[in-house]
Amino acid sequence: MIERGYITSVWKNIGNIESKQYDVIVVGAGVAGMTTALSLESKLKVVLVSKEAFTESSTYKAQGGIAVAVGPDDSIAEHITDTLNVGQGICREEAVSVLTGEGPKALEFLQALGADFCHNQTELDLTREAAHSRNRVVHYYDYTGKYIAEILACEVNRRHNIERLNASFLVDIATEDNGCCGCLIEQGGELVYLRASTVVVATGGYSGLFNRSTNEVSASGDGIAAAYRAGAVLADMEFVQFHPTAFTTLSGKVFLLTEALRGEGAVLRNYKRERFMFDYHPGGELAPRDEVSRAILQETARQGGKMIYLDARHLGKEHLSERFKQVYAELAKSNYFMEKDLIPIAPAAHYTIGGIKSDLWGRTNVPCLYTCGEAAATGVHGANRLASNSLLEGLVFGRRVALHINGVFCAKKEPSMLSAGVTEATGGYTDLEALRTKLDSVAGVVRCGKDLKAMLKWISDGAKSHRDGLAEDNHGYHVQNAYQLARLLVEASLLRTESRGTHYRSDFPKKNDEGFKKHILQQWEKKVVMQ
Ligand SMILES: Cc1cc2nc3c(=O)[nH]c(=O)nc-3n(C[C@H](O)[C@H](O)[C@H](O)COP(=O)(O)OP(=O)(O)OC[C@H]3O[C@@H](n4cnc5c(N)ncnc54)[C@H](O)[C@@H]3O)c2cc1C
Repeated sequence: MIERGYITSVWKNIGNIESKQYDVIVVGAGVAGMTTALSLESKLKVVLVSKEAFTESSTYKAQGGIAVAVGPDDSIAEHITDTLNVGQGICREEAVSVLTGEGPKALEFLQALGADFCHNQTELDLTREAAHSRNRVVHYYDYTGKYIAEILACEVNRRHNIERLNASFLVDIATEDNGCCGCLIEQGGELVYLRASTVVVATGGYSGLFNRSTNEVSASGDGIAAAYRAGAVLADMEFVQFHPTAFTTLSGKVFLLTEALRGEGAVLRNYKRERFMFDYHPGGELAPRDEVSRAILQETARQGGKMIYLDARHLGKEHLSERFKQVYAELAKSNYFMEKDLIPIAPAAHYTIGGIKSDLWGRTNVPCLYTCGEAAATGVHGANRLASNSLLEGLVFGRRVALHINGVFCAKKEPSMLSAGVTEATGGYTDLEALRTKLDSVAGVVRCGKDLKAMLKWISDGAKSHRDGLAEDNHGYHVQNAYQLARLLVEASLLRTESRGTHYRSDFPKKNDEGFKKHILQQWEKKVVMQ
């Protein structure tokens, strides 16, 4: 087993390490972390930690927009219904009510910071995405994430109580008897101990563990792994959403073609140029993402492995190049022009539903450890995420975390865990590429028990044979986190012997409400629980 407590042995000598004191540590500078930091009271001394510049987050890459029920024909109730339908019976309904009900307030928060989303004359230009029954997605052309990330980062920089620590890698979270008391970060090869009575993990998801992913490799779930080692319960790790329409650029990078393209009329075609989605689902191209992803793989197999295409030609150059500026420009670099070319696409890992289990205020089971954004498992997405609900989740729950901290904030004593017996360094693995490739084939859109079991064994065998260890640097930590999370993901996928939402088992293709209208919960050194 790879996980045996802290990832580094440095805890034995913590007294020799430089330390800094804050009131609140927020790890992650995406939409969730920045919203939290900005919503904390200005009298609190806050540090906002991120391993890369804010431009490297999933938030910065988001294209489509933010789902909010503000259209004249829309209502919170309808947003709730759509979210629950897509979540396939295991959404946490109170969390969905909070998410959708506080959506308009989240939008106002951004507008108050200066966000001016695309308008249609005087009204917001709301677009449609898969499985939404209304046009409800507020956007800024097709680079909504970049737009809001820049606005939030600009405001963070103006706040005197928020210190920014870029290029700082969260290594481990410190706990004492009363809960969380700080964290260890690596900065330019040096370890620094940040002390605080409250820590917020907003480090995003783990889709970057897959080889074919719309996320950066750095979306590797480090914060989830660190929270797990600190005793936090993880939930729903098996649910990974694959985006159906990802394009591979000339340089081999995977680039997302936003769902808003299909929302505005683009269709899928097989190699004979025939539309096929209605053969698989009555929602056609706007069926939920898991259905579209599986249909693409089935159609690819049916036609002997030939390519599937996205066809937006009928939308015309003027509309495509103006409305989808980013996608248009990126495709043009690879010599594809949407007004005249069919665009080859395939599914890619996109969004991870699983993460650190939290309540409606972002609290975890570890006292004083909070979480929000993609790192959290609030239960809002159930077994599948409704498109554009995740930027919203970061905004709504980021703010709620801050409100809770503002309300209960109190100073804590110095950590006492430093001599505790869980200070071993974990062993290392070196073959990260092999792990990523295996995840694609074994834990991808279609999974099967035999392969999952073999992969679990492969991970455990690797743990034994590679114990000689990696360097204690951020690459080493990254690799160890990756193996730890892959094990958790594969284990949860193996235990869910049914198909639901994003989790599809070829050996259990049906939904089993009797046995599995539940969540799989994993906790350090505890038996896996289903509840
Ligand atoms: C291509 C793409 C398009 C998308 N489009 C949409 C969309 O249109 N609408 C929508 O709602 N959602 C969309 N999503 C999903 C959405 O962008 C993410 O779910 C959301 O932005 C996650 O925000 P976050 O703040 O939780 O995490 P992120 O934005 O991923 O930020 C994570 C932060 O944590 C930091 N971090 C990670 N590990 C460490 C560590 N070890 N130490 C220190 N810091 C660390 C990172 O540096 C980063 O600052 C899209 C995602 C992608 C990839």
